Amino acid sequence: MLAAISMFIVAGCSLGDLPGAGTTDPVDGQKLNVYFLDVGQGASQLLVTPSGKTMLIDAGNNDKEQVMLDYMKTYHIEKLDVVVGTHPDADHIGGLDKVIDHLPVSAIYMPKVQSNTKTFESLLQSIKNKGLKVKTARAGLSFDLDDQVHVDMLAPNGTYENTNNMSAVVKVTYGHTSFLLTGDAESESEKDMLASGADLHADVLLVGHHGSNSSTTLKFLKQVQPKYAVIQVGKGNTYGHPKSAVLNRLQKQGVEVYRNDLQGTITITSDGKSLHIVTER
Ligand SMILES: [Zn+2]
Repeated sequence: MLAAISMFIVAGCSLGDLPGAGTTDPVDGQKLNVYFLDVGQGASQLLVTPSGKTMLIDAGNNDKEQVMLDYMKTYHIEKLDVVVGTHPDADHIGGLDKVIDHLPVSAIYMPKVQSNTKTFESLLQSIKNKGLKVKTARAGLSFDLDDQVHVDMLAPNGTYENTNNMSAVVKVTYGHTSFLLTGDAESESEKDMLASGADLHADVLLVGHHGSNSSTTLKFLKQVQPKYAVIQVGKGNTYGHPKSAVLNRLQKQGVEVYRNDLQGTITITSDGKSLHIVTER
């Protein structure tokens, strides 16, 4: 599907000798691919590690179920080693049930928060049908996705009334490069991540809550210090996402912004040292 669309390289730069948390040095030519899938107004990130391990974070809204299955085909995904449902909102977990129905899944993480929506119940049913047990997503969890790709969960740091703040926030490190994937975490969660003392720095930031004013506070942004930011938004969405205040903040910090509504799916490839960004349009 994507192959038919002309692709062009928009960025490629060396990040130099930044401190990295990789367990072993990346092998030359081995690549981590992070796909910020265009699911309209919603969010979904697919990661494929050098050894072919896969992680899917969110899967867009209910009406994107087929789109998600098509993406799995496009990227030759035959199993998912890790699935993360950041929080129960439909624009994140809507398409997850069908993905779980169609592919073998080894582990699934979700925050400890319930929802009485049909979408959430349908996801729980798919998880149950697969005989999976949900692992609780929370700050402090960490695991290796493969020998060289490390995953740290930086949020939620507590229990919040606002389910957006219950969002699982995932930091992925490969060699000297890192990605911070924030779900819909808002300022309250950002404040607690800052207070937790966790290393928030990342080369790529998935802008929280689709570029809403609720997220990407200046303090948080200054700590993350991303080179690149991705905003997962749908064209002409009714929320007015992304907000101009957030775009201005990113611009002032010198962050290069990529958007699904303008550029389609955004693929960021890391060789452990530098990043290479390709957009669908
Ligand atoms: Zn959302």
